[in-house]
Amino acid sequence: MKIKFWGVRGSIATPGQDTVRYGGNTPCVEVSDEKNLIILDAGTGIRPLGLDLMKRYPEGTKIAGHLFITHFHVDHIQGFPFFNPFYVPSNHFTIYGCEGAGKKLESIFMGQLSPEYFPVTLKEMPAELKFVQLTTRPVVLDGWTISPTYVNHPGLALGYRLDKGGRRVSYITDNEPFRYLLRQQGEHTDDLFDDLGRGAVELEREDKNLVEFVRGSDVLIHDAMYSIDEYKTKLSWGHSFVEFAVEVALQAEVKQLILFHHDPMHSDVVLDGLIKHARAVAAKRSSKLQVHAAQEGFEIRLS
Ligand SMILES: [Zn+2]
Ligand SMILES: [Zn+2]
Repeated sequence: MKIKFWGVRGSIATPGQDTVRYGGNTPCVEVSDEKNLIILDAGTGIRPLGLDLMKRYPEGTKIAGHLFITHFHVDHIQGFPFFNPFYVPSNHFTIYGCEGAGKKLESIFMGQLSPEYFPVTLKEMPAELKFVQLTTRPVVLDGWTISPTYVNHPGLALGYRLDKGGRRVSYITDNEPFRYLLRQQGEHTDDLFDDLGRGAVELEREDKNLVEFVRGSDVLIHDAMYSIDEYKTKLSWGHSFVEFAVEVALQAEVKQLILFHHDPMHSDVVLDGLIKHARAVAAKRSSKLQVHAAQEGFEIRLS
């Protein structure tokens, strides 16, 4: 099983010298084996993935794959019309996602590819595209089980867990802890943050459900958009801070945590600091958890 990061940035693409090491493309992660191509989200990172796929396969080979969308905020779908394999008639892709704001999955993409926004409509896309609307029922594909779960983010949003041959990868981008959101009006909010430094944290029931959902993951890709101080001014924006991502990984006995959905304001140097801090938080708890920040082009192989 191969995991490859094509887009790691949250909210908006951030090209430029300050982000060149970690990358500026918005979310897109490839998870694949010899036979199956699974793509998580269609941020701007799906464009370089498409170009790479066109090179990977000899001309005339049919490319087939499964694209799982977490939600329809623009950073997760902006690359959709720019995925070159969609423009080859023999190719076949199945697109999965939940409904969004009362609209059916397919109609959301029809809206994105309407003439006001893009010159090619969805119906004119040459490849064969099939849409499968999800709730929480797992999708079973050729030895893989892909399980969706709802996460805490404005509007409906999904996270995914991918299992194959005893290996588990979880993708929880765009998720805010319930614990702080539910208590944001409480007078002891600062105490809640303070106890993160003291050890295991009592999570809200919904946060615990997420811990169980990702339990035992070989790789957990988790929203870590903010530092804790940034988060305190961004409650209810739908994102996590580094300590929370580490807490979920520790409680779920994850092997490798990948900090994901980097804030557009965070330069490479800032991200270096956040990873160092995340590693220190994990080490303080005598954990063997490995922590990395998602980086464009970064690849993980699980045998
Ligand atoms: Zn996002
Ligand atoms: Zn979002």
